[in-house]
Amino acid sequence: MEASCKSADDRNVLLAAPDAAWQADIRAGVRHVRDLASLPLSPAEREAAQQAAAAHKVRVPKPYLDLIDWNDPNDPIRAQVIPSPDELIAVEGELGDPIGDHAFSPVPRLTHRHADRVLLFPTYQCAVYCRFCFRKESLTSIGRGYTREALEPALAYIAGHPEIREVILTGGDPLSLPDAALAEIRGRLEAIPHLRLLRIHTRVPVALPLRITSGMIEALQGRLMVTVVTHFNHPRELTQAAEAACSAMRQAGFVLLNQSVLLKGVNDRIEVLEELCRELMYRLGVKPYYLHHGDLARGMAHRRTTIAESQALVAELRRRLSGICNPTYVIDLPEGGGKVPLAASHIEGREDGTWRIRGQDGKARSYSEVVADC
Ligand SMILES: *Cc1c(COP(=O)(O)O)cnc(C)c1O
Ligand code: SF4
Repeated sequence: MEASCKSADDRNVLLAAPDAAWQADIRAGVRHVRDLASLPLSPAEREAAQQAAAAHKVRVPKPYLDLIDWNDPNDPIRAQVIPSPDELIAVEGELGDPIGDHAFSPVPRLTHRHADRVLLFPTYQCAVYCRFCFRKESLTSIGRGYTREALEPALAYIAGHPEIREVILTGGDPLSLPDAALAEIRGRLEAIPHLRLLRIHTRVPVALPLRITSGMIEALQGRLMVTVVTHFNHPRELTQAAEAACSAMRQAGFVLLNQSVLLKGVNDRIEVLEELCRELMYRLGVKPYYLHHGDLARGMAHRRTTIAESQALVAELRRRLSGICNPTYVIDLPEGGGKVPLAASHIEGREDGTWRIRGQDGKARSYSEVVADC
């Protein structure tokens, strides 16, 4: 395995943290529902949390747990990971598979909805379990980790479809896997000649930043362009450790993007969103990519915003921040309709080639198209 060829000195070039550091962060966190007993919850909260945890697993590594302000019952970090009694309220219209992953899954552990790219699920386990996860029912029902054999049908499918250029490792959290497994998956993928880009969707830089070691980075480096899509939802998640993890990945040449989920009571205020997007780009070097409207995951009505409120938020975000700091506000439609932009249109009307378009200042202007006939 390549990972063992490098010297202890190389390891220090990027990040000093040895593997033991992040493993200790997992051990010191909440790993199981019984660990909730060690948290400052009231007996009623604990009881409700235990019930909710039966529907969707709990796991919170120590660094993320340490960000919680236990004096604030509405703390935005706590809201993302500590099970709430509200999760037990399933509302009609919510869905077990909100974005229709299953209907587009020709073989196990793979979703192919857009011709040029596939989702590949090497594991259904995560370093942290987010209460709002749209894939939580798969994580709980499938729940399996990585084995070489489990991925064979998906790898054969990719090899047999030359239109696929991009493989998106998601899950589960691919960076919860050991370096050797990551190197093995990367090696198998780069041997498929039509693939160009390896994308990794992960919450590890947020929840377990010391896991981003030089060994992990090396395991991913090879022929394919690497893009890491992080998942920061709140400015308080942008810790020094997260910053160091992102810096190491940028130095390795990875392209860093972020997707956030818009969550009521977590990041649905303009000041919060503005700081999140601005600091992601300017401090962490991570380009805000998507801002997702809350999916119809079961038991999440208490975290969803309305589309109209959110359109007003993203319009204000566009006024306050540069284009590179702005994510695209999208909804991932049910039944596999895919991600589509949701921002309010600036077009107010049209007469032949003359359009009425509202500017960022709110005033409409006419724009007459001038095009050559040839
Ligand atoms: C989100 C998603 C992708 C990636 O879409 P991009 O717009 O390229 O980020 C690919 N396949 C599926 C099934 C998805 O849900
Ligand atoms: S890390 Fe991602 S896949 Fe895992 S629970 Fe959170 S949102 Fe879901």
